[in-house]
Amino acid sequence: MSVTVAVVGRPNVGKSTLFNRLVGRKIAIVDDTPGVTRDRREGQGRIGDLYFTLVDTAGYEDANDDSLEARMRKQTEMAIAEADVILFMIDARAGVTPTDEHFARLLRRANKDIHLIANKAEGRAADPGLIEAFALGFGEAIPLSAEHGLGLADLYTVISQAVDRIEAEKARAAEEAFDYDMVQKPAVDVDVNEEEGEDLEGDTAPMRWDPNRYLNVAIVGRPNAGKSTLINRMVGHDRLLTGPEAGITRDSIMVPWEWEGRVINLVDTAGIRRKARVQHKLEKLSVGDSLRSIQYAEVVVLLLDATVPFEKQDLALADLVEREGRAMVIAINKWDLIEDKNAKILELREACERLLPQLRGVPLVTLSGLQGRNIDKLMKAIFDIERVWNVKIRTAKLNRWLSAMIEHHPPPAVSGRRLKLRYMTQAKTRPPSFIIFASRPDALPKAYQRYIVNGIRQDFNLPGTPIRLWIRGGK
Ligand code: GDP
Ligand code: GDP
Repeated sequence: MSVTVAVVGRPNVGKSTLFNRLVGRKIAIVDDTPGVTRDRREGQGRIGDLYFTLVDTAGYEDANDDSLEARMRKQTEMAIAEADVILFMIDARAGVTPTDEHFARLLRRANKDIHLIANKAEGRAADPGLIEAFALGFGEAIPLSAEHGLGLADLYTVISQAVDRIEAEKARAAEEAFDYDMVQKPAVDVDVNEEEGEDLEGDTAPMRWDPNRYLNVAIVGRPNAGKSTLINRMVGHDRLLTGPEAGITRDSIMVPWEWEGRVINLVDTAGIRRKARVQHKLEKLSVGDSLRSIQYAEVVVLLLDATVPFEKQDLALADLVEREGRAMVIAINKWDLIEDKNAKILELREACERLLPQLRGVPLVTLSGLQGRNIDKLMKAIFDIERVWNVKIRTAKLNRWLSAMIEHHPPPAVSGRRLKLRYMTQAKTRPPSFIIFASRPDALPKAYQRYIVNGIRQDFNLPGTPIRLWIRGGK
């Protein structure tokens, strides 16, 4: 049985890019049947072990007499009719446009499994778009970068859930065919964008473990912190030296390897393999190059040299990780060189809280890449922090929590009127991002926002991940 997935959305949001990524250019069938199907491509899509039929409704170039709107309607209606799962794509960088809203209206009427996809979501430029997307009424958008292949794990989840659902429906239908007493039973109800997916998630539901999911991990740090030594130790010398060439940029490589059954991609920028060649440029290469690995990774390991920790460049990197919204683990390397280890760890923790307040509670792991010690602890910290980064907190729980926070410490009055915080919800994960709807959003002091963010971090136990908070008017 194959599930049919349609990608719909206005031109230029990245539908074809996604199609090409999932189907591959070579096997894409361009359907040039005249008439209504002209603008459609169909092919076998794949993410990991999950296969499906993918329909791309792109291609307005061979325009006919119909107005753009009419043609979009036709395509969208066709997609709705034929697809089991609809991916409604917008451009997170452009935000929500009137054409997107037009699509949303068409789709809202459909009783189908629709998922909002915010493409071009690599980097921070997409953050406002992701928030706006929420207003389209399809719940939390799935951030994606079709071009860079980011966010495919979430697509995998959505599509595999649809496959499970359809299979369950078929099984039930088959059963019902034999069970005459049950003919009157109401049809299986299909959840379409159930509010917040609340029934699906626990309070702080851990991410579903998925063996097909690659975890992209970047190891960044100053020159000489010990990155190459550590990476070599992690993957084994031979593996790295003969590692795959394919990288996200010309200057980077990806090193896939496996740790306790999970596939890890170590994202590595220039300086490891070609170290000898670029040695003299290392000082300059570091931050700019690290940025690209940070953007590509889910979890970033900031590698510090225990003998010279928290140098300016280390702090700049930590700041970059925070701004890019990545989960972070701090690894203190060359621990073998430290004599008074107890005193040192206290000193490092203190320095960390003082210098990186924006990443309070970030896990610290001491290790020795040279001796290969504590790599297991580092891996455990990486998996733990990834779970925190993916956490989803239920709206009901958040609002109960918000009431208690307000009661404990009410927002200030501004020009004689008290600010009202009306409603709170988690807009997205990775990193955990929240919206509070307030009576006068602009007037809420930064200090109060910090009170909320610190409270979220502490009460929901979210150390070491950036936490975003947006204050909005209305509701
Ligand atoms: P379509 O008209 O919806 O099929 O859009 P295309 O797939 O042709 O993409 C439109 C433009 O967006 C192209 O220039 C793509 O290179 C670009 N694009 C697609 N996906 C991404 C992405 O994930 N990030 C960024 N920054 N650009 C993208
Ligand atoms: P990179 O520039 O960050 O890739 O750093 P390298 O991996 O090239 O390491 C820089 C220097 O630190 C080399 O001389 C390594 O042998 C040394 N080094 C790396 N890790 C450790 C460690 O855990 N302990 C000690 N004592 N030295 C280390």
